[in-house]
Amino acid sequence: MQHFQFDINKYLNELEMLVNIDSGSYDVDGVKKIAAYFESLYKELGWTVKYLDFDDRVGPCLEIRNTANEKIDILLTGHMDTVFPNGTSALRPFSIKNNRAYGPGVADMKSGLLSIYYAVKELNFDNFIKIPSICIALNSHEEISSAYSYEWIQQLATKSSYAFVLEPARKNGDLIRARKGILKYSLDLTGISAHAGVEPEKGISAITELGYWIMKLDQLTNYEMGTTLNVGLISGGTAANVVAEHASAVIDVRYTRVSEMKKLDEMFNHIQQHATAKGIISKINRVGFRPPMNPSEKGEDLIALANNIGKKLNIEFGWASTGGGSDANFISAEGVPTIDALGPIGGGTHGIDEYIELNSIEPRINLLREILLEVICNKLNTHS
Ligand SMILES: [Zn+2]
Repeated sequence: MQHFQFDINKYLNELEMLVNIDSGSYDVDGVKKIAAYFESLYKELGWTVKYLDFDDRVGPCLEIRNTANEKIDILLTGHMDTVFPNGTSALRPFSIKNNRAYGPGVADMKSGLLSIYYAVKELNFDNFIKIPSICIALNSHEEISSAYSYEWIQQLATKSSYAFVLEPARKNGDLIRARKGILKYSLDLTGISAHAGVEPEKGISAITELGYWIMKLDQLTNYEMGTTLNVGLISGGTAANVVAEHASAVIDVRYTRVSEMKKLDEMFNHIQQHATAKGIISKINRVGFRPPMNPSEKGEDLIALANNIGKKLNIEFGWASTGGGSDANFISAEGVPTIDALGPIGGGTHGIDEYIELNSIEPRINLLREILLEVICNKLNTHS
């Protein structure tokens, strides 16, 4: 058994500093500041820190390693971006009230980033036959579906034996075992405009066409299969007295079965080729994608291992399945046993009341650390 010191005040000071740096997904400078902070922490531990620039619109991602091995025994991931625009932390900076810490990104997931560091920094592998290879992947833009970094995450996953994602634990303390897949499509329709009073018969309304497809798409929701569609954004037309030339929609799809993805892609393809009104041109683009996260047999073993550690440490939690996505989706889809939501207990994410429970910080770091040690000692055959 290794023994660890934890200084909650130091942790909270660092968390305050991190929360008070705005780092929205497109705030390149803000994300760079967060990245620089973690770069210095891990370099002090003697780990290597690689910067990866995937696109000018977003900040750098960090790949942090303790060995030069290609293969990864333990993959730990978190994201440095938040959903909040620049200026948010000036309006409502980090604060502590009634045993909770508040502030933009405090739960989702600046505390998670710190907790990874605190969980690994004192791990001592001196008595091990082989030092386990750990990779910490800090994403710069998870909140926009990891649009430019998901292939990197997938590549890391293919090299990894086990993965842990530090999104916040649920309000009731639950960890996450499954997440729905997400597909996002944009639908753009072009018809022919005409004066609605003078010669409406010459027009072809893109709005009418869109209305037809909205009704059709709604019918594809199938709660039993776990597939839901939401036409969440629509726009179109220029004036009430003009037959609309353009109309568009953005559709968010959640699904649990991989087979559904193909069906949905086919359905959207069908829309593209089968406009109801002659002369309508449809364009469909898939603008977002996360595969579903469902535990494999090995994933269930890892869940059982975590349950045992929880009992040993006297930390209570259950397991949630959620419709929201994270990078755990990409990792788990590569067949890697993955546990998500190992950060502190929190709630109100993406909103003004976002918080974490202060008295969950240390227990959850201990939980993560003990899970890592158990996996390293008993699953990876590295122990002497
Ligand atoms: Zn998050």
